[in-house]
Amino acid sequence: MSVASIVVDIDAILHNIGVFRKIAPNSELIAVVKANAYAHGKTVLAQQICHHVDGFAVARLDEAIQLINALKKVGKTKRIILLEGFFIHDNLNDLIKYGFETVIHSSWQIDALKQMADKEKITTWFKIDTGMHRLGFNPADASHCFSQLLSCNVVKKPVHILSHFCCADEITSNKTIEQMAIFDQFIDSIKDKTTIGKQSIAASAGLLAWSDARRDVVRPGISLYGVSPFEYPQTDFDLKPAMTFKSELIAIRTHQQGESVGYGQTWQSPNDTILGVVAMGYGDGYPRNIPHNTPVLINGRKVPIVGRVSMDMIVVDLGLASQDKLGDEVIFWGNELPVEEIAAHTKISAYELLTRLTARANISYINKQA
Ligand SMILES: *Cc1c(COP(=O)(O)O)cnc(C)c1O
Repeated sequence: MSVASIVVDIDAILHNIGVFRKIAPNSELIAVVKANAYAHGKTVLAQQICHHVDGFAVARLDEAIQLINALKKVGKTKRIILLEGFFIHDNLNDLIKYGFETVIHSSWQIDALKQMADKEKITTWFKIDTGMHRLGFNPADASHCFSQLLSCNVVKKPVHILSHFCCADEITSNKTIEQMAIFDQFIDSIKDKTTIGKQSIAASAGLLAWSDARRDVVRPGISLYGVSPFEYPQTDFDLKPAMTFKSELIAIRTHQQGESVGYGQTWQSPNDTILGVVAMGYGDGYPRNIPHNTPVLINGRKVPIVGRVSMDMIVVDLGLASQDKLGDEVIFWGNELPVEEIAAHTKISAYELLTRLTARANISYINKQA
């Protein structure tokens, strides 16, 4: 037992991978482990699930290098895709050295590849902008850019093609259907089909909710960790949350009606009560600005956080009947209190709640199969 800690259940992640394999039996599965695997600790996690996925994806070259080195350490290797491609300052030779696959979203990247003399060394994913309007080639000149990319010596053929949805979490949105149509028009427009490699459009929401989006390769992130990308309470996809974010009671105090607690006296107790002080704070990544009555789980019951969240401490109202003891576990989210519920309550998305966790929160792993 330690203070603010993240416990990751590898079996839950393997269960979720099983769910994806059932939903998309013919698709390769690329596990998205950017942002330290959404705070689940990418290196150990990747080592543990390596044999169950077809590859990994990250957002930055340095993330990819950390990942491949961690895998090498345990004698493993796997495809790694750079979802945002290489950046202007990145060294392209690193892509060759490590064998990373890269997304190509802009003409300047094609120009950079043209300068390289090596033959068929870099696997690329041509990104077409079907409506997200963030990264990717405009459909109007995508065919031209695609042939430019094919003309680069260093680029392996065929070239894979991907896109990204902007509204796949809105199950009734027409936007996703439109985006798939634009994607398919682009594929149709390429005359030499032998130049087309694999197709990929679906992240978590696309994979779970849009059957036509399950192409050659799927790229789940948040759902891999058992968290739904849809609005809460969401359709049940039989996902199991992998993370328990918890700490412990470090003080218990009796408290009188009308007394305040914490910085700024933002809360006064309406009754005599018993308060618990928990070793958790915004220094661990728990958000500071949360609404009144945000729950935590202690000894199987939900109790509210009261007063302001401090850097290292959070106070909870245990109630007069409290039998709780020093050292008792306090769960901020996990199996019985989904992070989606905290997201709905705080209006901070589950993606952000997870990725804002800090390095002070120690990560440990449970793996019953190992
Ligand atoms: C982050 C990301 C994903 C994973 O998204 P989730 O919604 O977490 O499943 C997939 N593809 C791309 C391009 C991404 O940036």
